[in-house]
Amino acid sequence: MEASEKTAFLSILTNVVLVVIKSTLVILSGSLAIKADAIHSLTDVVSSAIVLIGIKISKRPSRSFPYGLYKIENLVALGTAFLIVVAGYEIVEEVFAGRIRILPSHIPLAAGGTSIAIVVTWLFSRYALKKGHETGSPSLVADARHVWTDMLSSVVILISLLGSAFGFALDRYAALIVVAFIGKAAIHIFLDAVRVLLDASLDYESLNRIREIVTADSRVVKINEMRARNAGRYKFVELDLILRVKELKKGHMVAEEIKQRIKCDLENVDHVVIHYEPQKKDYITLSVPLSEDRRTVSEHFGEAPFFRVLIQRTRDGVVTADSILTNSYSQEEKAKGIKVANWLLKEGLDVLIVRKDLTGKGAGFALGNADVEILITREIDADKALASVRAEL
Ligand SMILES: [Zn+2]
Repeated sequence: MEASEKTAFLSILTNVVLVVIKSTLVILSGSLAIKADAIHSLTDVVSSAIVLIGIKISKRPSRSFPYGLYKIENLVALGTAFLIVVAGYEIVEEVFAGRIRILPSHIPLAAGGTSIAIVVTWLFSRYALKKGHETGSPSLVADARHVWTDMLSSVVILISLLGSAFGFALDRYAALIVVAFIGKAAIHIFLDAVRVLLDASLDYESLNRIREIVTADSRVVKINEMRARNAGRYKFVELDLILRVKELKKGHMVAEEIKQRIKCDLENVDHVVIHYEPQKKDYITLSVPLSEDRRTVSEHFGEAPFFRVLIQRTRDGVVTADSILTNSYSQEEKAKGIKVANWLLKEGLDVLIVRKDLTGKGAGFALGNADVEILITREIDADKALASVRAEL
């Protein structure tokens, strides 16, 4: 049993106990406020049962419902909201029809029973909050808050009972307050269900978290579009990304990684669909390591004293920038290859021309990972090496 199922189960059990206690008190005291409260607890049993049933059945997609039956949960919640409103109306009607006892009977017993209900609700609220924080489940924390307001409505009843003991006829007012609590819960359940049924967007927090995860990946150039919705307790995410990749296979890998990260980070993510396209570049940056004379191609990469960096417009092949940069890492003791690779990546490197293969070296790995094309040349003259590569682009 997963944690959410266990808590839903315990919630049903707690509320059944509360319904039994409160119903007994209604029969003994005739208090309308307690009756309203008992109805409230009954609707809580129903909504917890929906959650449990929802977890059980909604996960199974079938041929007729290929997206699963997640929304059954929301549909039944809508029905529950309706039932709550009907129950609330009944109570209000009784208050104003004046068919009620002015003072409840068996007040000490009713007060005692209500105190027990308060303790039970308080304990369960504490438990749900603790579990919610432990598992990081926002739905459990929301549950705990709900149970907390349930406790408050019982406290209102206790106060009215104590008032009644001194002859103040507070019961009908307490009943109205409890109905207000019920009404608030009903509105919340209703809006929530309708939002999900109409495919409203995911909450801002989750959307921002997804955006953070996606943009943290250096291979993502841009998020074209991000859409996400709920169905039942599950989240469905759609992303349209531009990736810094050339091959489709690599793009697929990046998309898979992002998918996994989203699924691990957010709760109840059922499906992540990522559409991606490789980045279309308006300019291509080429670079070649130079020797001391600044004209011949260096045999080294990390130790090369200079780098020629040339930027060419993709559309017509016109060179828009051509400069010789000093390699400030050439005298470094350790990992200069990787340092130079990262420096060139920051310069926007797309194509590197070298005389010796970088395969198996740290620099080769760093550049390959960023999808830089590494071309081996036999030319010694940098101008000729660049010209032959540019003719191929
Ligand atoms: Zn409740």
